[in-house]
Amino acid sequence: MARLVMKFGGTSVADLDRIRNVARHVKREVDAGYDVAVVVSAMSGVTNQLVAWCRDAAALHDAREYDAVVATGEQVTAGLLAIVLEGMGVNARSWQGWQLPILTDNAHASARILDVNGAELIKRFEERKQVAVIAGFQGIHKETGRITTLGRGGSDTSAVAIAAAIKAERCDIYTDVDGVYTTDPRVVPKAHRMDKIAFEEMLELASLGAKVMQVRSVELGMVQNVRIFVRSSFVKPEDINPRANFLGTLICDESEIMEQQVVTGIAFSKDEAQISIRRVEDKPGVAAAIFGPLADASINVDMIVQNVSADGATTDLTFTVPSADYERARVTIEKAKGTIGFERLDGATDVAKVSVIGIGMRSHAGVAAMAFKALSEKKINIRAITTSEIKFSVLIDAAYTELAVRTLHTLYGLDKA
Ligand code: ADP
Ligand code: ASP
Ligand code: MG
Repeated sequence: MARLVMKFGGTSVADLDRIRNVARHVKREVDAGYDVAVVVSAMSGVTNQLVAWCRDAAALHDAREYDAVVATGEQVTAGLLAIVLEGMGVNARSWQGWQLPILTDNAHASARILDVNGAELIKRFEERKQVAVIAGFQGIHKETGRITTLGRGGSDTSAVAIAAAIKAERCDIYTDVDGVYTTDPRVVPKAHRMDKIAFEEMLELASLGAKVMQVRSVELGMVQNVRIFVRSSFVKPEDINPRANFLGTLICDESEIMEQQVVTGIAFSKDEAQISIRRVEDKPGVAAAIFGPLADASINVDMIVQNVSADGATTDLTFTVPSADYERARVTIEKAKGTIGFERLDGATDVAKVSVIGIGMRSHAGVAAMAFKALSEKKINIRAITTSEIKFSVLIDAAYTELAVRTLHTLYGLDKA
């Protein structure tokens, strides 16, 4: 029998009515003959509340206890959905990560999945036609026996890992939008849904700010070759024919996409901070003196701009870090002032990174240059630029984010017809 993974995010299970709606989606696929593993998130807002409680309990807390707390959100939804399914006459049971188990490493709060016991699920499909309702976001570290979580948005990764483990025909990611759009449809109403997007492009979109899929889930899907389909849980379950074409976005191999656009999507992130080190001594070893301590502190540095010194003696160096790490990064640099040698440190947290993504950029010149001109016409100043094979990013004042995204969306012909 064909197997299917159905994942439902927080807004899709926000209350009991929505959970009943989810159950009807599940029943539809069961009735169509699929063996189904459902992966659920916590009810919307619950994980945020749990995270806030941990912070209030102690600003600096044990990551193992954080995981013990935040993993509970998913446990509630899994149990509730199993109860509702049973009430509808669908044989179902809930699974927590440790019960199956879903084994992870011990990087608490951002653990990686090592193994999923798919055999147990398959056995139950075969023996009792039982739907598995699995709590997303969580697993267990075998050696310590402690509960782990996979990082925010991690239920997507649970779903893709389970799909790989049971060799599912597809992994359906049900959310509050009906697919992957050219940019966040909440910010740009003219954004349009794509029928297909390549793994590599989705990976860039996700890592550059589009939260529709967790980055690791896309990575895993790419490596394990899982067919991921992003779709809406808000469509009436009864209006969908599981055997016909339904609306959504397939994340697939590049070779499956016939008409490749130069630019496929635009992502943005306001979770950036800029640090500029003024009048750094221009001598060998300075970059190592700056970025070494940041790496030791596990601070991810993204964009880096170093000016050529005018006087041959000093220069300015600018880089970005996640805004959550801004204060730590400043302190780290100040501490290393003696070895680095600089005049002063300037910083800004009201900055945003806007990124343009498309596999077609590999074979087209001048794509970024068009953006620089269009942004300058809107009087948007660019603070830093980075480019790679299939994307480029600009750092701008956060206040201009929406304007910049809309401008570029129109520029590259992405507006809905
Ligand atoms: P879930 O709770 O179902 O996991 P998320 O809130 O994590 O849902 O992700 C869905 C949201 O992602 C959408 O509501 C949308 O605002 C946002 N989003 C950002 N960029 C995009 C994009 N390019 N396409 C679709 N949605 C996007
Ligand atoms: N509930 C978790 C979160 O909010 C995991 C998820 O929804 O994917 O981050
Ligand atoms: Mg999500």
